[in-house]
Amino acid sequence: MNTLSPELLSVLRCPKCKGALNPRSTSLACFACKLEFSVDDGIPNMLIEDARPLAASEAS
Ligand SMILES: [Zn+2]
Repeated sequence: MNTLSPELLSVLRCPKCKGALNPRSTSLACFACKLEFSVDDGIPNMLIEDARPLAASEAS
């Protein structure tokens, strides 16, 4: 399982725009920046340089 605790989620913000993140199965997505931050073993990688671009079709 790759779930993040609600407590952790509530304090996590996009490092780029400081906006709320949208939890996905194995990542956290910022739809404003169209970036996806990976979560490995429950540890979110919030480095902008490691983020993956969100596909436009996913940003809904
Ligand atoms: Zn953002």
